[in-house]
Amino acid sequence: MSPRFRYLRPGTLKEALDFLLVHGSRTSVLAGGTDLMIAVRREDLNRDFILDVSRLEELRCIDREDGLLSVGAALTYTEITASCEIRSAAPVLCQAAGCVGSVQIRNKGTLGGNVANASPAADSVPAMLVHKALVRIESAAGPRTIPLEELIVAPYQTILQPHELIARFFLEPLENGWRHSFQRIARRRALSVARINAAVVASLGENGRIADLRLSVGSVVPRPARMTAAEEFLMRQIPDLELVREAANLVSREMVRRAGIRHSTEYKRPAVEGLVTKALTEVLL
Ligand SMILES: Cc1cc2nc3c(=O)[nH]c(=O)nc-3n(C[C@H](O)[C@H](O)[C@H](O)COP(=O)(O)OP(=O)(O)OC[C@H]3O[C@@H](n4cnc5c(N)ncnc54)[C@H](O)[C@@H]3O)c2cc1C
Repeated sequence: MSPRFRYLRPGTLKEALDFLLVHGSRTSVLAGGTDLMIAVRREDLNRDFILDVSRLEELRCIDREDGLLSVGAALTYTEITASCEIRSAAPVLCQAAGCVGSVQIRNKGTLGGNVANASPAADSVPAMLVHKALVRIESAAGPRTIPLEELIVAPYQTILQPHELIARFFLEPLENGWRHSFQRIARRRALSVARINAAVVASLGENGRIADLRLSVGSVVPRPARMTAAEEFLMRQIPDLELVREAANLVSREMVRRAGIRHSTEYKRPAVEGLVTKALTEVLL
């Protein structure tokens, strides 16, 4: 039987981009393969080429650029959780990475694959949104950098063009004194995608008031997003349990506004409020 597609592993980013420029619409990019191989096994991957980017050095960096933490798209969850640099600057991302799938999935699955797949349940996305993440997209025409929230436009849909690759993410590092929390509800602890996930980072002023706070949720909305109404409500307030519960209620209302009323809303409304209350309590109280 002749192969259904050709497997290629370019040695440099330039080689990969030159190939995508010509063959992008007939090519699937492969990183860890934990999402893509499902399509391959189902035989519904209608492409001539698979381009393996998992070993491209340019997609595997962890460094700083203009004060931002730069995290390569081809880093696996295991590499992310093992990095001291990421742990100190973006601990909420490490926490989210540690929740993904199983050891095997974390050893293969990458940050870039998670984002490009654009599942509403992608655990890394809410965690990166609270770091005001930017995405560096590379193509043969040159790089462009956009906010992460502009990349994912609908469930399983991004604005990436067939000739483009996600190269890295830029995250605003947390300063000393910031607190963080990543929470998720899944059917089981391992090997289940999140039913709801939430990430929070915050700093309290010396007067005990909330000086800055970012809150995002995933799974319960069509694409993970910052919950700006709850964020604004909490700013400059002195936190207590009642305030936290009111903010969690604002998040569940925003969920309904974005996702509409569904058969699962009756379950999700108290579940999202409980999860957000837990995350905010961990950070603020
Ligand atoms: C059993 C199991 C459990 C899982 N559990 C979780 C979980 O708990 N949480 C969670 O969020 N996800 C989970 N996943 C989903 C999956 O593991 C993640 O989405 C993972 O991060 C995908 O990364 P990958 O490198 O394997 O992507 P791949 O499968 O290689 O690629 C996924 C998609 O992204 C594209 N792509 C990959 N890299 C790039 C790039 N650099 N630029 C442009 N496009 C690119 C590919 O073309 C493909 O369309 C699970 C999957 C399985 C099978």
